[in-house]
Amino acid sequence: MSRITRLRTLRIAKRPNLLWVEIETDEGLVGLGESFRGAEPVEAAIHSLLAPNLLGQDSRRIEHFSRQFMTPYVGFNSAGAEIRAASAVDIALWDLKGQRHGIPIHEALGGASRTSIRAYNTCAGYSYNTSGAYRRDIGADERPTGPYDDQVAFMNDAGRLAESLVAEGYSAMKIWPFDVYAPATGGHLINLEDLKKGLEPFRKIRAAVGDKIEIMCELHSLWGTQPAIRICRALEDYGVFWAEDPICKMDDTATLADLRRQTRTPICGSETLAGLRPFRDLLAQDATDIVMLDLAWCGGLTEGRKIAALAESYARPLAPHDCTGPVTLWAGLHLALHAPTAIFQEVVRATLATWYRDLVTALPDVRNGMVHAPTAPGLGAALNPALWSREDAIIRESRPQ
Ligand SMILES: [Mg+2]
Repeated sequence: MSRITRLRTLRIAKRPNLLWVEIETDEGLVGLGESFRGAEPVEAAIHSLLAPNLLGQDSRRIEHFSRQFMTPYVGFNSAGAEIRAASAVDIALWDLKGQRHGIPIHEALGGASRTSIRAYNTCAGYSYNTSGAYRRDIGADERPTGPYDDQVAFMNDAGRLAESLVAEGYSAMKIWPFDVYAPATGGHLINLEDLKKGLEPFRKIRAAVGDKIEIMCELHSLWGTQPAIRICRALEDYGVFWAEDPICKMDDTATLADLRRQTRTPICGSETLAGLRPFRDLLAQDATDIVMLDLAWCGGLTEGRKIAALAESYARPLAPHDCTGPVTLWAGLHLALHAPTAIFQEVVRATLATWYRDLVTALPDVRNGMVHAPTAPGLGAALNPALWSREDAIIRESRPQ
């Protein structure tokens, strides 16, 4: 028995999208989970819906909790607040399991398929995704504020950005230069002029570093089918590795499958999906080439490893999401090390070099474009204890009645 004695959540005003949950047991262990976007409703779901079913219970029964929390009477198969809460708790329970046995989570999952995984750098800036909606309106004359201000760099100086990534050992990068053109028509039209402007960074990258780097194009579910097809076809000339989340929304499997048949650019999807069945439908209907998942949104490591097995059964590669918070990155890394068809772990060098460091006691070892397997028990990091005494901390706690 490993009885759950307390759940604590923490938010800080400085990073309003993020929420952390700690689960404590009577063995004296503390497991860590994380959530991103809509932190306040997730906090409420953890304390009001999940805590009453966790407190006093045996923390080892992860599968039992996952089945219970992933199938609420309403809200299933979504990445809504209930499922994001379940995902954060699931990650914390796996952290506990690893710590209890003194092994990293990738070992607890069944062992590693590899000792390191290729990273791609998502070219976000230092404050990307920090509050509310992310920035699309990069000015044409805007210059990077530091060496890793990568969103400004890809919009205005993509060739030099690619050179800097290659120099650091990265072999893949992700950019989203079409986003800026979507709002004018609600994503229902992209004209030729904007299409060509959106292609400029790809041209500059190829001109600067040739084929030394793979390029992923993020489309953020901003487009209707016709403009999405137009963009994906235009990207064919640049050998783009994948076009991610091309349509609004990515559970529209038939539309996505139709788009995929009309372009040679590989399709990647989707961090926005949660639960096994949406991923099963995507794969069964030949709607995606690469499976992207976010462990803090899709149901945690328990659901994530089943999605990974689905991807494996369709011989499709897997690529866990980051660009949210350091605990999600740690969790993604463990799955990427374990899952047989994983090919990439997403990282953001701007956040790894700055504020991710302040939130947790350790970060993954990224060197020469590879993320190396951690050896510490559980996730490999705890929350920085200083966060609990910050002035802007919002703390909630649930204990047995
Ligand atoms: Mg994405």
